[in-house]
Amino acid sequence: MKCIFCKNPSSESKSIEHIIPESLGNKSHSLPPGIVCDSCNNYFARKVERRVLESGYFQSLRFTQGIPSKKKKIPPQKAFISPNIEVELIKEKDGSNTVRVPTEVWNQVAQMKGCQIIFPTSGTRPEKREMSRFLAKIAVEAFAQRFVDKPHLINDMLNDEQLEPIRQWARYGNSPECWSFHERRIYDRNKRHNSDDVKNYQVVHEYDFLFTPQNELYFCVAFFGEEFTINIGGASIDGYKQWLSDNKEISPLYIDKRSNQSFNPTANSSLHSL
Ligand SMILES: [Zn+2]
Repeated sequence: MKCIFCKNPSSESKSIEHIIPESLGNKSHSLPPGIVCDSCNNYFARKVERRVLESGYFQSLRFTQGIPSKKKKIPPQKAFISPNIEVELIKEKDGSNTVRVPTEVWNQVAQMKGCQIIFPTSGTRPEKREMSRFLAKIAVEAFAQRFVDKPHLINDMLNDEQLEPIRQWARYGNSPECWSFHERRIYDRNKRHNSDDVKNYQVVHEYDFLFTPQNELYFCVAFFGEEFTINIGGASIDGYKQWLSDNKEISPLYIDKRSNQSFNPTANSSLHSL
């Protein structure tokens, strides 16, 4: 067995690789040990996923939507007591919010007659380069997920030269300068969905592939309605923009659902029941 990223022998590897980080609410989409070796698994957690998850944008998303980390903690969110005292908002187990005021500013806050707490509702986006590598990692793993029961196809994937640049970009980030991706909102982050089987839930993440008439393969993933798309075969996103324009800007995640008003959760989505 060889790792799909570094191609080193991986039969002894023991870690399960989560395609979407557990800290983004993914409990079900993972690859069995050895598809991604322990060393790459560890590298992605420390150098790729953490940087993205610690960005203001994802911290805010995790806080406002109440997504616990692997250790079952919802990360606190930075906030300000007007005008400039930095505090933290803590999500309690019952869903209420507490403001944590650092002891060194406690007297100052206690003397205030009234105060206003300001917290960002979206947060600073991850660096483009880091987000791109994060998406590339998810894309390669989602691709491998389709073949986990067919070892000969995983082998073909390892030898596929067309996948070499994206796997190198995800794992080593050494070239090109930046691998473009496309980003847009396809529905409100608080949108509640209903299906025949499940009522009143949110979609934590959903992903799928798009094969365009120009024979380009794109990977598309959405977190709470924010869609990100990356080209599997090259660093340009122009073909996706063209496809969007040719297809009335529909999301590839919803192509088969156009005629179906009620959204049916697919195998590639993770739900958040309310
Ligand atoms: Zn590896």
